Amino acid sequence: MRLLAVSKTKPAADVRAAVAAGQRAFGENYVQEGVDKIAALGSAGLEWHFIGPLQSNKTRPVAETFDWVHGIERLKIAERLSAQRKPDLPPLNVCIQVNVSGEASKSGVAPGELPALAQAVAALPQLRLRGLMCIPEPSDDENLVRSRFATLRRLRDALVTDGMTLDTLSMGMSHDLEAAIAEGATIVRVGTAIFGERQLPPHQDGTAQH
Ligand SMILES: *Cc1c(COP(=O)(O)O)cnc(C)c1O
Repeated sequence: MRLLAVSKTKPAADVRAAVAAGQRAFGENYVQEGVDKIAALGSAGLEWHFIGPLQSNKTRPVAETFDWVHGIERLKIAERLSAQRKPDLPPLNVCIQVNVSGEASKSGVAPGELPALAQAVAALPQLRLRGLMCIPEPSDDENLVRSRFATLRRLRDALVTDGMTLDTLSMGMSHDLEAAIAEGATIVRVGTAIFGERQLPPHQDGTAQH
């Protein structure tokens, strides 16, 4: 089980402190902020994961600078990332985001569409499909949250049974990481519990937030 330290909205100095404490893998949600932070800290010895929603007009900087993308939910985004990944870089590691919450969530591919999307993504030359990712709907019901993580694990197991090589279950955040670990998470994405509460995120287009 690996710890991804989610440093979104936090200054590069906070990341440096985490690096000094031995942390190597960091997660960012906003393209420009992530690119700036990678430029400030470098990529040598560090691993940068893009974990936010990704619009098709923002794929290039992500393909050119990050090591992982966790939230793939459309083939078009995956195709752009593969086409824009420079051939001298190792393949971009990706996870498909699955909607394990049904009507209660809007993000992620529906479980019924997962096998076809997984086959298509796995075939892209500059990507390496590593596994699945989910963000269950917010809930205080521990059993419900745990059942969402169990769903993701079973979906991964089914793809492996069908012959795919997938080593990653990216699930669990500060408030639900114990349940995720109990259900087999291989990467937990933890922000608040490491870096403290966040201020409002920077506005996506770089303008001041009101
Ligand atoms: C912000 C974020 C996290 C970390 O959330 P915390 O509650 O601060 O641990 C993990 N995953 C994703 C996709 C996020 O956007």
